[in-house]
Amino acid sequence: MTTVDLPAIEEAARRIAGHVRRTPMERSAALSELCGVPVQLKLEHWQETGAFKLRGATNAVLSLSDEERERGVVAASTGNHGRALAHAARIAGVPCVVCLSKLVPQNKRDAITALGAELRVVGRSQDDAQIEVDRLSREGMVPLPPFDHPAIIAGQGTIGLEIVEDLPEVDTVLVPLSGGGLIAGIAAAVKASLPKTRIVGISMARGAAMQASLAAGHPVEIEELPTLADSLGGGIGLDNRLTFEMVRDLVDEVVLLDEAEIAAGIRHAYFQEREIVEGAAAVGIAALLAGKVESCGPTVAVLSGRNVAMDLHARIVAGADSLEDAA
Ligand SMILES: *Cc1c(COP(=O)(O)O)cnc(C)c1O
Repeated sequence: MTTVDLPAIEEAARRIAGHVRRTPMERSAALSELCGVPVQLKLEHWQETGAFKLRGATNAVLSLSDEERERGVVAASTGNHGRALAHAARIAGVPCVVCLSKLVPQNKRDAITALGAELRVVGRSQDDAQIEVDRLSREGMVPLPPFDHPAIIAGQGTIGLEIVEDLPEVDTVLVPLSGGGLIAGIAAAVKASLPKTRIVGISMARGAAMQASLAAGHPVEIEELPTLADSLGGGIGLDNRLTFEMVRDLVDEVVLLDEAEIAAGIRHAYFQEREIVEGAAAVGIAALLAGKVESCGPTVAVLSGRNVAMDLHARIVAGADSLEDAA
């Protein structure tokens, strides 16, 4: 099996140092009190583009050969990966194209062009955008997908190195889980030096593709549904090469949350921790609040991003428990 190992993650850490923030961990008094164990929050939503994805994208772009740098990079994500890739490519002086469908709203398009990437607007779905990525790849551009790529996983894994360095006695790490690049990298880094530390993945019950794939024993497609944790939406790819097997082999447990539990996590982050986080980033806190993870020792929750529409965030803070509620 191909995998991403500790040396690859340590190399990524050296490569991205100075380009990506080494984020702090802050003790949560409220959650430590509630859970009876020390709880720390890893503040990845403080990255410059508002999410941890800058680590993987920066590592992938800085790993390109001179010849690949000239060909440029391409991806189909309009979310946190698209932003991160555009940012990393601009810093490195590498051409970047982000493909998206006509359905993507203007404000998201503007955010990507503001970061210096070129937009290709094609078709009416994410699949159509992916076809354009494949076409540009055949013409020579380098595709950098959001999770299923060794340099992306190694970049995200640098979070795990920092957790081990800052809290060598860590017992449990709570990680938001979608395509699995984040948790695969963190698990590889943490388990290499602390094999007994538990790694728990957390997804929304509405459309948990990795969980369904683990249950089936192979990657499966499931229906994508609207959720407060929108950055956790989407499939893992039926032709998944790396993250499915890494998650299956390295992750101890997967927990699913309903929308009201995710909303409670966002509210706790705001009122108790004074942090603005998006739904995907609130799931670690939410799982602790819901009593869905048991922890016997020092626990870290990774807060993965803060790119939430502020009007939606305000409605959740005011008490909305779902997207329908907030509409
Ligand atoms: C992408 C993303 C995740 C999930 O990462 P995967 O590598 O796809 O599992 C979690 N939180 C935020 C904010 C993200 O942007």
